[in-house]
Amino acid sequence: MTSLNKICLHWTAGNYNPCQQDLNSYHFLIDNNGKIYFGSHSPEDNLNCYDGNYAAHCGGGNTGCIGISACAMVGFTEKLKQTKCPLTQKQIESMCCLVGYLSNKYGILITENSVFTHYEFDRKRQKPQGKIDIIYLPFLPNLQLNRIGSYLRNKAEWYKKKIKDRKYKLEKKGNTYEFVSIV
Ligand SMILES: [Zn+2]
Repeated sequence: MTSLNKICLHWTAGNYNPCQQDLNSYHFLIDNNGKIYFGSHSPEDNLNCYDGNYAAHCGGGNTGCIGISACAMVGFTEKLKQTKCPLTQKQIESMCCLVGYLSNKYGILITENSVFTHYEFDRKRQKPQGKIDIIYLPFLPNLQLNRIGSYLRNKAEWYKKKIKDRKYKLEKKGNTYEFVSIV
């Protein structure tokens, strides 16, 4: 029996707001202010990826895999490292908090085999397709690309504990969601 046991982290390579295709491709999207949009597919849709009704965010690895994407990095290339919409710190904090939340909710372990960037997933494939999300954090330009995955996992682990201890909760605000700290 399949379960939701993985989370893949992306950027959209678009601007700071999700477009319809983004909403169809990922389960969760995060804007530059850390606001979370729910995609058109639920994570549970990815339990079965043979019926055409699932979020196709991670080619070759969609089954049981939740897709979270930060809306940013339009036009970014590894060589030039420039974009009109650089990933923001708020976006990354919100992403890692969401990973912690989903890890608690679905019992997904935060290890490099179960929570990974699209780049990390791609590199392990027999024929890598040159995915570059997430190889660069504009607010931490000196953090090396092969250390970004563990940087995000450590942060997610921290949030996971905070959420378990009821220090943060997910709140609906209009048509988006936000994590708010509980004092
Ligand atoms: Zn991706």
